[in-house]
Amino acid sequence: MTNDLDLSRSAQLFTEACKVLPGGVSSPVRAFKAVGGTPLFVASAQGSHFTDVDGNDYLDFVGSWGPLILGHAHPEVLAAVTTAATRGMTYGAPHQAELELAKKVVECYAGVERVRFTSSGTEATMSALRLARGATNRDRIIKFSGCYHGHSDGLLVAAGSGAVTFGQPSSLGVPEQIAALTTVLPLDDPTGFSAFMEREGAEIAAVIIEPIPANNGLLLQRTEFLKTLRRVTREHGALLIFDEVISGFRVARGGAGELYDIRPDLVTFGKIIGGGMPVGAFAGPAEYFKNLAPDGGIYQAGTLSGNPVAMAAGLSTLEILDREAVLDGLEALGKRLEDGVLEILANGHYPVSFVRQGSLFWFHFAEGTPPRTAEDVNSTAVGPYGRFFRACLEDGVYLAPSAFEVGFLSAAHTSTEVDRAIASFGAALSKVF
Ligand code: PLP
Repeated sequence: MTNDLDLSRSAQLFTEACKVLPGGVSSPVRAFKAVGGTPLFVASAQGSHFTDVDGNDYLDFVGSWGPLILGHAHPEVLAAVTTAATRGMTYGAPHQAELELAKKVVECYAGVERVRFTSSGTEATMSALRLARGATNRDRIIKFSGCYHGHSDGLLVAAGSGAVTFGQPSSLGVPEQIAALTTVLPLDDPTGFSAFMEREGAEIAAVIIEPIPANNGLLLQRTEFLKTLRRVTREHGALLIFDEVISGFRVARGGAGELYDIRPDLVTFGKIIGGGMPVGAFAGPAEYFKNLAPDGGIYQAGTLSGNPVAMAAGLSTLEILDREAVLDGLEALGKRLEDGVLEILANGHYPVSFVRQGSLFWFHFAEGTPPRTAEDVNSTAVGPYGRFFRACLEDGVYLAPSAFEVGFLSAAHTSTEVDRAIASFGAALSKVF
């Protein structure tokens, strides 16, 4: 495959970056290790596009990994941010925008009465677990294989081979004693989960899940499985935490909780709630939050938590989502993408499947129905996906630089751009196979 893209300036900056930033990046997947080649250095971004430092323009289906549901630099969000910034970048004291954003979250998400803001999704899940542990007076937690909840110690644990396993650290630096408090279970296995809880449920503080797992491909779960989690956690006095850092405000106004009609005990947010600024939140009923400092003994804090500029971006984003019925438009756009891609896959008989939920989508480079568990994801997809990714990139279409990351549509994408992407995907697949 010839590479016609001139990425010389990006390559030069990456070489320099490697001398001061570990691996040249501030977060690992950005280094393009999973697809090869030079990571793009972004010069500017607008709407559904961004331009790299060599002047190449791309139709962007990553959207900064989820926050940009309105696209880059939405004028109204920018105006809100600018106005807020002129009033001061941070106060470290209460202000009205955090109240307004919290009220919006309470209004959108069923069962939520209290919201505590953080500066990232990682802090949100980490703090939700502490709250659950403090509220139940138990230490152990359950997570599911293939679900990512940020990089805090207790959540960075790998799965065993489908069997019940005590967590093994999946990163150097995570103490085994901490990982041992995390049990990793497979997705899509209500019977196994119930049996585990029957034996050990009395020790479990919380069960945390991405109700729409979107960090190891898009592993859509059966409603029955999620309903089993709800019922069984309640029976054993463990809290159910929905990590809606990706799905929150995207798959429905009330997140996956609304989509599946399930109320978790606690919910975590990130990405969209900050409208492109660093924000996370954990939320739930007042009965749990009465235990959180300053009202209770469970400590959690943050210098920049509830930052006024970030709150303004989030509030403006959520207001636009409601006012312009953005999610309905995204569903229509997603359906158009899905129909087009499925037609190409069927006509070309490619060994690839496609899965979508609203504005989230994923190509699984394997034949058959899309997987529901991490164990069923084709680990040999890396090679063909890398070739697919590069062919799309050379055609000006930017997908996630990893076979196991999802794509994101935004309200800034037009149907013409979606059609253009479908054509690009078709041409790229014909080069790969
Ligand atoms: N939870 C989920 C579901 C995520 O997708 C992510 C990040 O991608 C996180 C938590 C961690 O969020 P952050 O990267 O803001 O720390």
